[in-house]
Amino acid sequence: MAVPVSLPDPQEEQPDRKAWRDRALPPVQDLGGGVWSIPVPIPDNPLRYTLVHLLESDAGPVLVDTGWDDPTGRELLRAGVAEAGFALEDVHGVLITHHHPDHHGLSAHVRASSGAWVGMHAAEAAVVRAIRDVPAEKWIDRMARSMRAAGLPEEHLAALRSWGDDSEAGPAALGALVPDRELVHGESAGVPGRELRVMWTPGHTPGHVCLFLDERPRTRLLSGDHLLPTISPVVSLYPENPQDEPTDPLGDFLDSLERIAALGPEEILPAHQYRFTDAPGRVRELLDHHAARLADLHRQLRGRPMTLWEAAQGMHWNRPWSELGFLARHLAVSEAAAHLRRLVKTGLAEAVTDEEPALYHAR
Ligand SMILES: [Zn+2]
Ligand SMILES: [Zn+2]
Repeated sequence: MAVPVSLPDPQEEQPDRKAWRDRALPPVQDLGGGVWSIPVPIPDNPLRYTLVHLLESDAGPVLVDTGWDDPTGRELLRAGVAEAGFALEDVHGVLITHHHPDHHGLSAHVRASSGAWVGMHAAEAAVVRAIRDVPAEKWIDRMARSMRAAGLPEEHLAALRSWGDDSEAGPAALGALVPDRELVHGESAGVPGRELRVMWTPGHTPGHVCLFLDERPRTRLLSGDHLLPTISPVVSLYPENPQDEPTDPLGDFLDSLERIAALGPEEILPAHQYRFTDAPGRVRELLDHHAARLADLHRQLRGRPMTLWEAAQGMHWNRPWSELGFLARHLAVSEAAAHLRRLVKTGLAEAVTDEEPALYHAR
């Protein structure tokens, strides 16, 4: 397909950057070269919206992510696709960066409206299938078991159970459409007439992908949640896999970041906040951030052996531990768990007992 010779200058003050600063919803934007961004709101979430991207193709528009499923989201997605000159019914395919409901939420709605195929990495499709097949109580049980092993107090476990029971944010809300196409690392994403390649970037989730648009006049990376301009995506332990392999999501995440820096896309189109340049610079910041977090946790474990829960309390968070609410503590321990797994994998920490709760010390 024809690609115009000029794109908007990425250094200019962009409507999406301004909207993020002003805490507003950005407009639908024509990013040039047959790429559009369509903001779809996320209710009650500080991220506020997902940037769904529409790629024009020889077979009709293809969406990268679909957004949170509620009546407002459905309406704004349809209106955004119309602003790009298409109907939702025209959508030819959907590429999903990862299964979180702010990305994959509206996929079933789009497929029902248009008959579009939905593509996802195999490791991510396995998560969607597991969520579909395992009842919500089991997920909470599993989470509670790993949290007990981490030494969490009973009142935190009780709060976790009641959160799972009545929260929209609980695992039950994550159930979503199983994809019908597989996205394979290094291969074409299957968008007719476009040079779009799949980059597997595990870490935030096991099967997260970025999509590399290798077209002139500048290369662009649709980065999902993997690379954002100022926010560091949550990296916690993956939901336990059937083989119970001790996976290393933080190690995966750091490797995925290095791969993006080596690729050196000229512009990043993330799914939150706003688009930006200098991917290697942003990657460096994130690598430094996690190196500091690993050192912080390692320092905690240097004294007496302690549980993950105890070690997490000594780490630096955006507020003192005593001021963190239940969910913030839960996220903090989840993040600490991914960092502890990395320390153990790299030989910098080890468990001193097999008992529950497990005790760790630095090596
Ligand atoms: Zn996510
Ligand atoms: Zn997201």
